[in-house]
Amino acid sequence: MRRYKAKKPTIGHIPYDSICGSPAIPGSTTMTLFGRAASPPDFDEARRLMVERQLRGRGIKDERVLAAMLLVPRHEFVPGEFKGEAYEDHPISIGEDQTISQPFMVAKMTQELMLKPSDVTLEIGAGSGYQAAVLSRLASMVYTVERRQRLACLAYATLMKLGYANVAVFCGDGSRGLAEHSPYDGIIVTAGAPEVPPVLLEQLAEGGRLVIPVGPKMHQVCKRITKHGGRYETEDLTGCVFVPLIGRFGWEI
Ligand code: SAM
Repeated sequence: MRRYKAKKPTIGHIPYDSICGSPAIPGSTTMTLFGRAASPPDFDEARRLMVERQLRGRGIKDERVLAAMLLVPRHEFVPGEFKGEAYEDHPISIGEDQTISQPFMVAKMTQELMLKPSDVTLEIGAGSGYQAAVLSRLASMVYTVERRQRLACLAYATLMKLGYANVAVFCGDGSRGLAEHSPYDGIIVTAGAPEVPPVLLEQLAEGGRLVIPVGPKMHQVCKRITKHGGRYETEDLTGCVFVPLIGRFGWEI
């Protein structure tokens, strides 16, 4: 596993000052507008509506989860061309044939993890980094693993730019878990597994919860498995459709 070390965030290779510091016309001290300026989207209002209508309105009751999702700027985790859809009620492409999950699914799985502020959590399938950002507001530490290097790098850059300092991003096969930081109070898998990976159960702390979609590639059941005194209690939560978990304890490529 490789861990990404903190680097100063940049926008491409252009320092901010060279964009913001120069006048549009040489010698002029004011910007000149050509055409009509579009109003910037009101992301705060869109996020508020998302929380009220898609989450609270559909039965998400955990106030800590609702507050976290009201704070995390989902549009920052969505590629430029889809930012206008960031708060809509569906998954969105993040490239590499992967998606950032539907807001309701993020809220539902997070709520079912039942996190306390002192909990240490593991996410498998970092994708855009959005779910990790939500978890970081509810737990003391979040480890997240992504198998695609480009997505891991992008997720890391976004999380660091936004100041989520209690998140560590790893690149590798998360179906094997992340033994070096175990045990975990909560493990969330945001890709569909054919079966529950036994190593993830082994990496749960006593009383720990694993929330994971399990089943065929086209349709899974999201399950919560809780460790009690070395025994595991399994509950079926909801039907769902996730991209496949690829790896040693997932699907073959
Ligand atoms: N949680 C993400 C977010 O907030 O954007 C969305 C996750 S996306 C639905 C599923 C992710 O799981 C993809 O980025 C995919 O590359 C990743 N994935 C699939 N198999 C994996 C594995 N074995 N280890 C780590 N990541 C994996």
